[in-house]
Amino acid sequence: MDFDEFRRHGHAFVDWMADYLETVEDRPVRPQVEPGEIARQLPSSPPDSPEAMADIFADFENILLPGMVNWQHPSFFAFFTANSSPPSVLAEMLTATLGAQCMMWETSPAATELETRVLDWLRQMCGLPGPDEGGFHGVIQDTASSAILCAILTARERATDWAANVKGLKSTPPLAVYTSIETHSSTEKSVKIAGLGADALRKIATTDDFGMDPKALRAAVEADIAAGIIPACVIASIGATGVGAVDPLEPIGQLCREHGIFLHIDSAWAGSAFILPEKHWMLEGIDYADSLVLNPHKWLFTNFDCSAHYVRDPDALIRTLTILPDYLKHANQGDVIDYRDWGIALGRRFRALKLWFVIRSYGVSGLQSMLRAHIAHTVWLAQEIEDDKGFTLAAPRRLSLIAFRYVAGNVEPEEEDRRTDLLAKTLNDSGRLYVTPTTVKGRRAIRFNIGQTYTERHHVEAAWKDIKETAAALFAD
Ligand SMILES: *Cc1c(COP(=O)(O)O)cnc(C)c1O
Repeated sequence: MDFDEFRRHGHAFVDWMADYLETVEDRPVRPQVEPGEIARQLPSSPPDSPEAMADIFADFENILLPGMVNWQHPSFFAFFTANSSPPSVLAEMLTATLGAQCMMWETSPAATELETRVLDWLRQMCGLPGPDEGGFHGVIQDTASSAILCAILTARERATDWAANVKGLKSTPPLAVYTSIETHSSTEKSVKIAGLGADALRKIATTDDFGMDPKALRAAVEADIAAGIIPACVIASIGATGVGAVDPLEPIGQLCREHGIFLHIDSAWAGSAFILPEKHWMLEGIDYADSLVLNPHKWLFTNFDCSAHYVRDPDALIRTLTILPDYLKHANQGDVIDYRDWGIALGRRFRALKLWFVIRSYGVSGLQSMLRAHIAHTVWLAQEIEDDKGFTLAAPRRLSLIAFRYVAGNVEPEEEDRRTDLLAKTLNDSGRLYVTPTTVKGRRAIRFNIGQTYTERHHVEAAWKDIKETAAALFAD
């Protein structure tokens, strides 16, 4: 493809992109496809001769697009959002064009220096303590899962005085990691990858509000110490995935300090709300934390992947992960930041650019009002559900996340569960909206998260009307 052709297609693509986003609500949120249906339409071997871009694009539109979930659809209420925004997309186009490998300062000084600066902006926006006050240094990871793995690896090394790194885990007493039963599955995955074994993970019970029970945590830590096991790490959640549980950082942090346990905060989703001063209560006890992660790629209008990882002691992380073969040495070694030593992968995309575009383009106040609007829509919906005898909240609302059950018609709990599931399935099959069926305290529920960039009140109102009407039609007894 020559550059004239590139320019022509590029202009046409940008028009398509704007049209797509402008009319995405006319598409189903979730496609109706059977497994294998898309694959059957794709040639099983690659083309030998060049194909025209028009043909490639036509297949994208006609074969692939009908098999995509439209994550930027304003009636996307499932999982957590992977919200994007026009300034973020524009930045991603530039990032793709530069195609830079930003693994260290030498390989793109501006990418490194922007990453440091924009993560410090975000840190200030979130009201987190800065490096000058013994606070946090930021790095962008691909995902929160990577940040959690970095935390567990650093905790492992700190607990074994960096012996596990050199001699392996056989050389050290057994280690334990603690988290609540509400915590995201990435913690268990990281414990496995870090070589500790899934049995090293203690899943601590929660109190009535779904937060980790600090008394149960203390009992587990003390039992391990008595058994000669080293408590290495606690992963606490602010906004756990199921129903947005917030663990009590203050007592958890005190316990960690008492026993020298590494404390990582997983606020992958809810962390975006730290930019709202009225939500800072969630951070009480943050002074005890060794690291924290939040995902601008979930609820801060920045394309996946962009996970903001804050660490109090970068030297511990670097000491855990660093490698220095000759071909990666450079003249400014040690005087500049080489982010390759702050994460798992060597290669790094220029991710800071899109976050910089987003923060500048909306301004802090613009971002705050978008999040406040999402939360206000959720407050409204939670109230509607509470006021309706046919439905009940399965857990208290957290920020923009709720879970509810269908409870009309005086039926057995099993029948209520079946109806709640059938309602979720029917709604999702309709393509009009997308929710997540889940379990809350042993009962089936519909999990509903409002965080899509383009979601407005009328979308939430329409969804609620749809939910009530669909239920009435399904269970007309
Ligand atoms: C989404 C989520 C994760 C995983 O995030 P990735 O960036 O996809 O790895 C971890 N923890 C919580 C609380 C989450 O909501």
